[in-house]
Amino acid sequence: MQNDSPWLKQLNESRVITELNSDLETDVCVVGGGIAGASTAFFLMKNTKKKVILIEAGKIAHGATGHNAGQVIAHIERPFDDMVKEFGEKMVIKAYDQLYGAWDLLDEMIAEAKIQTPLYKTTGTCGYTSLEEIVETIKTNAIEYQSGLNREMVFISEKTPFFEELQKKYL
Ligand SMILES: Cc1cc2nc3c(=O)[nH]c(=O)nc-3n(C[C@H](O)[C@H](O)[C@H](O)COP(=O)(O)OP(=O)(O)OC[C@H]3O[C@@H](n4cnc5c(N)ncnc54)[C@H](O)[C@@H]3O)c2cc1C
Repeated sequence: MQNDSPWLKQLNESRVITELNSDLETDVCVVGGGIAGASTAFFLMKNTKKKVILIEAGKIAHGATGHNAGQVIAHIERPFDDMVKEFGEKMVIKAYDQLYGAWDLLDEMIAEAKIQTPLYKTTGTCGYTSLEEIVETIKTNAIEYQSGLNREMVFISEKTPFFEELQKKYL
């Protein structure tokens, strides 16, 4: 599918590309220059004395990173319960904890790399259309709340058609 990214359209397509045409010695080689590779390289260079090389097959941030919708949201799309079955509760809570903590890492990268691209912070509101979605969210919130992770409230109108179906424990 043709995907014309507005972000990539703004970049100078003739940026210098340094080809890797000989062997190099390094401590760490990060493969892939998307947000994952770039931030890994950034924090390795910042927090260690290791020599770091970032290798990219095409151009930096021209993969999924250059094609995204531009929203930075701390959320994992896979249901919490489902991940707990595979990885265990402790590991999933740790993942969420680190996900929420990543806001600070993002601010750190933007400030220290003097990135000019503005990042606007807003409070979002999420709507639900089915009982299943609400129950899933409340279940996740309950586990996170018990684990000391902060979560926003979920408001449910008493006029919701399936209000009666919500089990007492969820209310
Ligand atoms: C259309 C779309 C919309 C999205 N919207 C959002 C959004 O609004 N918010 C959000 O948070 N996320 C969004 N995402 C998801 C987000 O963009 C990705 O999860 C994220 O960019 C992945 O980053 P990455 O570094 O893991 O991968 P990529 O950005 O894909 O980086 C991987 C890089 O590795 C390189 N590579 C691969 N193999 C090799 C190799 N062997 N040698 C050298 N280099 C190699 C590739 O060329 C590529 O540049 C969206 C994704 C898409 C596609």
